[in-house]
Amino acid sequence: MLQFTDRGIYCPQADIYIDPWMPVERAVITHGHSDHARRGNGHYLCHEDSVGILKLRLGMDISVKGMAYHQTTSINGVTISLHPAGHIIGSAQVRLEYKGEIWVVSGDYKLMSDGLSVPFEPVRCHHFITESTFGLPVYRFPPATSVYVSINDWWRQNASEGFNSVIIAYALGKSQSILHHLDQSIGDIFLHGAVANVNDIFNAEGHAFPGRRVTVDMKKKSVRKALIVAPSSALSTPWINRFSPSRKAVCSGWMQLRGARRRSGVDRGFVLSDHCDWNQLNEAVLATGAENIYVTHGYQSTYAKWLRERYQLNAVEIKTQFEPTTGDLE
Ligand SMILES: [Zn+2]
Ligand SMILES: [Zn+2]
Repeated sequence: MLQFTDRGIYCPQADIYIDPWMPVERAVITHGHSDHARRGNGHYLCHEDSVGILKLRLGMDISVKGMAYHQTTSINGVTISLHPAGHIIGSAQVRLEYKGEIWVVSGDYKLMSDGLSVPFEPVRCHHFITESTFGLPVYRFPPATSVYVSINDWWRQNASEGFNSVIIAYALGKSQSILHHLDQSIGDIFLHGAVANVNDIFNAEGHAFPGRRVTVDMKKKSVRKALIVAPSSALSTPWINRFSPSRKAVCSGWMQLRGARRRSGVDRGFVLSDHCDWNQLNEAVLATGAENIYVTHGYQSTYAKWLRERYQLNAVEIKTQFEPTTGDLE
């Protein structure tokens, strides 16, 4: 039912693409990250909590329709529904059914709760498309709850020594999960514009993420013992200097790798990811009951081989246009 084309994953029967790389007429979007939600498509279909983000990132004038989880829509005989992916707020797996055959495109997902996104839901299917960003046994993430405690401890310690604390994280997703778990009694929280823009969307929809937007006229002296959340692009700009003296930390699954923190040039690395580690990947794949697994994004050939040999699944690697690198903040 689905084909892997140079524009992305295609369903000819419904004439829709899922997370297409190049402009198409009708796109189903799993979530708002830029490697999944791209400009130039005729019509967008996504989870209702992703609509505001898509408009923010792709333009207020896009044609976009939101759906609730488990709601179904039918296009030319193909039944389409969205299911929680647990990756970020509004992230969805796409389930497609045609004449009894079921495919699930999981997009990005994780099983570990971030306290914000609706938890990942295993969907029974015959064909499952999974990413494998961290598809090696070396990746075993600590519980996110303990990482949030460590982040607050680090902030408290820095504040007691007169330092500001700068947290580098994805503006969409990880920033909100960190903000949600911060101990606001430690000090003030400031936000890079990219993070504040995302928060404005979510706060207008009923969330209450803390933090003030950093403005040009903000006095340097007014920022003391504070925690600042910014995307990685801010690391190499003078923007970050206004917070000195400061200590900096990166939050990413890659921080588990020896040397990754040092290479990123920060003081501290927190192992926090919106993707599955090794155990979560295996658990998720097996929970679908699917016999046919398509592995994309990351260690796809190694992970597909593992699924064939260990679980006798019909697993194949699918090349994608964009591959993650340890420079990303996944
Ligand atoms: Zn993502
Ligand atoms: Zn992704």
